[in-house]
Amino acid sequence: MYYSCLSILDEIIDNNTIRKLTEYFISLTPNSRDLITVSKIANALKINDEVAVQIILKCEEEGILQRHFGIRCPNCGMLIKEMPTPDLDRISISECYCCDQEISISENDIVILFKLIKIEVPFDLGQQNGQSVRDQASIVAREDTFKAFQIMCETITKSSQEKRLEEYKNKIDKERKEKIHGKAIKKADRNRVINILVNIISIVIALIVIYSVYKRFGFEKLSLFVSFAAFIIPFGCNFIVKELFLTDVVRIEERLSIKYNER
Ligand SMILES: [Zn+2]
Repeated sequence: MYYSCLSILDEIIDNNTIRKLTEYFISLTPNSRDLITVSKIANALKINDEVAVQIILKCEEEGILQRHFGIRCPNCGMLIKEMPTPDLDRISISECYCCDQEISISENDIVILFKLIKIEVPFDLGQQNGQSVRDQASIVAREDTFKAFQIMCETITKSSQEKRLEEYKNKIDKERKEKIHGKAIKKADRNRVINILVNIISIVIALIVIYSVYKRFGFEKLSLFVSFAAFIIPFGCNFIVKELFLTDVVRIEERLSIKYNER
C-alpha cells in the first residue's frame, strides 16, 4: 500500500523511508493516530529528530497532519491533557491522574502532538490491542516538548536559509564565470584579427623600409638590414603585440576576473 500524497516527501527522504512512514501510519490505532510526535516518527523511521520535524512540517503544509498540544506529566510522562493552543492560562493541574503524584506544570511540560487527518487508515487495523495500546500511545517522550520543537524549527529554517544563500552565491558566481568566459572568447577573436593586421602592417612597413634602404645604400647594406628586420618582426611584433592583444582565452579570463573583483 502506498499513499501517493506522501510522495511530496521525496525531497526530504528516500522512497524506502516514505514506505516506512506509510507503514507507520497504517499501524496507528484510532487513539495513537491523534498522538503522533516527533520522536515516534523518528523511532519508527530510524531517522534523527531534525529530519522527522522536516517531514512533519511538510505533512502539515500538505494537510496530512494537524498540530495540537498537550500537557505531559513531568513525573510519569503520560499525556494528561490535550489542548488546541500551547498556553497554560486557565489550566490548573496539581495532581497526575495516572501516577497520583503531586505535580506542578510549567511550559517545559507542553508537548506538541499531531493528528493524522488526510490519510484514512483501514478500520480493522486500528482496533487491535485495545487498552494497552491506548496507554502506550499516551506516553509522550521528554524530547517532544513544544520548546524543543520550536528550537528545531529555527535550526531547520536557518540551515535552509544558509543553503539558499549558498545556492544563490553559487548561481551568481556561475553566471559571472559564464559572462567572463563569453567576453573572453569575443576578446580573443578580436585580438586575433588585430594581431594579423598588425603583422601585415609591420611586414608592409618592413618591405617599404627594405626597399628604401636598397634604393639609398645599395645591395651591400641591405643584407645586414634584412637580418635585423627578420629578427625584429617575429620577436618585436609577434611577442609584444600578442602580449598587448591576448588571444589566450584563459589569460583573458584571468585579467577580466581581476577587473571584476576590483569593482
Ligand atoms: Zn504522572
